[in-house]
Amino acid sequence: MRRYRYRCTVCRTTSPVVLNLADLAAEGSTHRLTLHGGHIPDDEAAGEVDRLGRWYATLPPLTAMHARIADGLSDLRDPKGMGRPFWASGSAALVLGSATALTLLLIAAAL
Ligand SMILES: [Zn+2]
Repeated sequence: MRRYRYRCTVCRTTSPVVLNLADLAAEGSTHRLTLHGGHIPDDEAAGEVDRLGRWYATLPPLTAMHARIADGLSDLRDPKGMGRPFWASGSAALVLGSATALTLLLIAAAL
């Protein structure tokens, strides 16, 4: 399940989380029409967020990969919710650590 938010930097507000791109576009256009007369605010932003509300585009690559795995695991129990249980975050770290260890072992075996 993907989550999106719209942010207006003029009003300094962020929309609630929506679950599809059509709702995201509706959030942005409704905000522009009602508060800005249809004009497009400078530096407005819209994009995908993780279950903690952080923009994926602003996360470092390793953190974004961890967030994707942890969000996928969290979605198994609560597909439309927010927040991240500790077990999902720990499992994601374990998966990343295992993949790194396996890669290092394969490199060491090849040399
Ligand atoms: Zn605004």
